[in-house]
Amino acid sequence: MRYASHVADLVGATPLVRLTSVTGATADRPAIRATVLAKLEYFNPGGSAKDRIARSIVDAAERDGLLLPGGTIVEATSGNTGVGLALIALQRGYRMVFVVPDKFDGPKVATLRAFGAEVVVTPTSVPPEHPESYYSVAARLAREIPGAFNPNQFANQNGPLGHYRSTGPEIWDDTDGRVTHFVAGIGTGGTISGTGRYLKEVSKGRVRVIGADPEGSLYSGGPVHSYLVEGVGEDFLPDTFDGAVVDGYERVSDAESFAMTRRLAREEGLLVGGSSGMAVVAALRIAEGLGEHDVVVVLLPDHGRGYLDKLYDDDWMTGHGFAVTAAETAHAPIDP
Ligand code: PMP
Repeated sequence: MRYASHVADLVGATPLVRLTSVTGATADRPAIRATVLAKLEYFNPGGSAKDRIARSIVDAAERDGLLLPGGTIVEATSGNTGVGLALIALQRGYRMVFVVPDKFDGPKVATLRAFGAEVVVTPTSVPPEHPESYYSVAARLAREIPGAFNPNQFANQNGPLGHYRSTGPEIWDDTDGRVTHFVAGIGTGGTISGTGRYLKEVSKGRVRVIGADPEGSLYSGGPVHSYLVEGVGEDFLPDTFDGAVVDGYERVSDAESFAMTRRLAREEGLLVGGSSGMAVVAALRIAEGLGEHDVVVVLLPDHGRGYLDKLYDDDWMTGHGFAVTAAETAHAPIDP
């Protein structure tokens, strides 16, 4: 019999799938000749790439004596990291408290509650140093709760290390070392820094690493302003981000990100989050200039279930000023 002893043991080993529709010819460019492979992180048991850092951060904390039996995990997270930590906490018997900015209070937070976590909602509209910010509240709770461990995903080097040890080797092995370009969005920077570093080392510097970044984020050079795609871009440089690994950036607008995310669902059957669409827009821009021997791997961080009432909702899209393209609505509605 082949089975896992706990769902938390199923983190990683996510598949690659070739993108075959969005790579076709458009009005602006011919069909892409390079192989574009999407790494589907929603295959992780918690539905996102964050399961990987949850596992590596908790493993290291146990090893270093920072998290003891019966302890409490306290983290500021907008959702995906919380789900990953929740799975590991359930497996190992830890209590969990998550601090979430109110702009993300929705299906993602409902998911955390469903896993039995306690959720503290904080205002989004205050700066990180403000005592009510989600960073500050998480830090205070971590001090006050006995036996608390704060993973601090924006500073903990075991996050990028988790990607260095799992995501990078998986991509290298599954492409038989033929990957030439790696494209990923940047939130904490853990994914791109850890995976990118591994791929550069193992390929002796041959693999190019490209950061996909929302218009409005600091990583690709600002100007910094708000945007709607979730989980990526920052207005500060976290310790978990290693800029030396990144060869270049592609700036992507919310409109481009959401339009591509919806195309991924309709054309490729990939129900993914908005940062996946953003990464694919960047990957296609890179792939446009490449030949048939190039292999572009683009990482799709999470599942689309948390965005059904947002970018997948036509009224939400038009309400935020985004076009719902004619191609999407071309089919006449069925008269019931
Ligand atoms: N996309 C989504 C939906 C995320 O939640 C995150 C994590 N914040 C990212 C992309 C970026 O990953 P990383 O933090 O590893 O840079």
